[in-house]
Amino acid sequence: MALIVQKYGGSSVADADKIKNVAKRVAATRDKGNDVVVVISAMGKTTDQLISLANQITDRPDVRELDVLLSTGETVSSTMLAMALKSLGHKAISLSGAQAGIRTDAAYSRARILNVDSHRIVKELGEGKIVIVAGFQGINDEMDITTLGRGGSDTTAVAMAASLGAQMCEIYTDVDGVYTADPRFVPDARKLRELGYEEMLELASYGAKVLHHRAVELGELCNVPILVTSSFNENPGTLIHGGITMEVRNKVRGIVHDLNVAKVTVLGVPDRPGIATTIFESLAEENVSVDTIVQNASVERLTDLTFTVTKSDLEKAIRVAEPAAKSIGARGCIADANLGQVSIVGTGMQNTPGYAAKMFRALYEKEINIELITTSEIRITCIIDESRVEDALIALHKAFQLEKEGDVL
Ligand code: ADP
Ligand code: ASP
Ligand code: MG
Repeated sequence: MALIVQKYGGSSVADADKIKNVAKRVAATRDKGNDVVVVISAMGKTTDQLISLANQITDRPDVRELDVLLSTGETVSSTMLAMALKSLGHKAISLSGAQAGIRTDAAYSRARILNVDSHRIVKELGEGKIVIVAGFQGINDEMDITTLGRGGSDTTAVAMAASLGAQMCEIYTDVDGVYTADPRFVPDARKLRELGYEEMLELASYGAKVLHHRAVELGELCNVPILVTSSFNENPGTLIHGGITMEVRNKVRGIVHDLNVAKVTVLGVPDRPGIATTIFESLAEENVSVDTIVQNASVERLTDLTFTVTKSDLEKAIRVAEPAAKSIGARGCIADANLGQVSIVGTGMQNTPGYAAKMFRALYEKEINIELITTSEIRITCIIDESRVEDALIALHKAFQLEKEGDVL
C-alpha cells in the first residue's frame, strides 16, 4: 500500500460529468489499496470568471479580498469531488488549504508556501478517507487566505507529496505529457518520456504552462519526481526527475513560447553608478515583476535600458518608470505591448556552439525580426512580435527536427 498524491487541473474538472470521471479514477486508485490525497483546481475557467467579476466592481481590487474570492473556485470543486466519491461509496473529505495545514507568507496573489502541517491530513487518511485538498491556496500568519499565483495548484500538489513523503506527485491534465512544444500550436510536437528538473524549470518558466515553474522548483528541492499525464486516457505520461544522466542529455529538448510579453525602454540613460538601482527599486516597491533586462554599452556616456514585464503589468511599469527616468535625467520611456517570446531549451546546448546561429537563421528565413535576445546556460530566448510567435514555433521545431528522437544541430 502506497500513499499517492494526484492533482487534477481545471479542464479535467470543468463540469459535473468530468468531476464524476475524476472520482472514478480516484476511486480506482483507492480500490487498489492505496492512501490517496487529491489536489484539485477550480472548475474550468472559474478563476478567470472570478477575476472578471472583481474587475466589474473596481479596476484595482483589494488584494486580500481578491485572494479570498479566488480561493472559492477551488473550494467549490473540492466539495463536488468529495460528494462524487461519497456517492461511489467511498469515505472522502474536502479540506481548504488552511485546513490542510498550508502556511504561506503574506504576499497576496503570489504567496509562497512556508511549511505544511500535515497533521489533519494524516488523521483523515488514518480514518480511511480519501482527502481532497483545495489547490492554489494557503493561510498566512494573520489566518488570512492567500493564493499562490495562477497555475498554483501544481505547487500545492508537489508540496503535499513532499510533506507526506509520497514517492511521486501525479499531475493529471488535458494533455498526456510534456511535449517538445505546445501541441495546440505545433501539430508535429512529440511527447517526451522524461525530463530533468533543470530543463523542465526553464520550459515552465518560459511558457510551457503544462506545469507551474514553482512546482518544478519544489520538486527538485524536495526530490519529488513529478509525473505529468492525462486525466482522460491511460497513455504513459512524462516523468520529471533528477536522474537524467549526461549521456542521454539532449541538445534541444523543447521549444516554448509566451504571448504575455511587453517591453519598456528607458532612452538616453546617463552612464553612471546608481541608475539601474533607481529604476528597478521603484519597480520593486510597486510589486512589478521584471523578467528580461538588457542594457547597451554606452556611446558618449548615454545608453538605453530595456526591460520586459507581463502585459498586465505594463501600465503600472510605465507609471513607475517615467518619473524614475526623469529623476535620473533620462530622455524618456517608450513601450511596446505587442510582443511574445520563443525559447529553445536543452541541457546539452551548454558549451556547444551553433545553436544560437541555427535559431537566428530559422527566424530570419521566415523574415521574423528579433527585438531582444537573452540566454541562460541551457536556453536561448528571442523576443519578437506577438503576431509571428506561432510561425516562429513551427519554424524552430522543424529546424531542430524535434519531431524525431535524437539531436540535430
Ligand atoms: P490544467 O488545467 O490541468 O492545470 P493547463 O491548461 O494549466 O492545465 O496546462 C495544460 C496545457 O498546457 C495544455 O492544454 C497545453 O496546451 C499547454 N502546454 C504548453 N506547452 C506545453 C508542452 N510543452 N507540452 C504539453 N502541454 C503544453
Ligand atoms: N485555479 C487557479 C488558476 O486558474 C489555480 C490552478 O488552476 O492551478 O490559476
Ligand atoms: Mg495548470
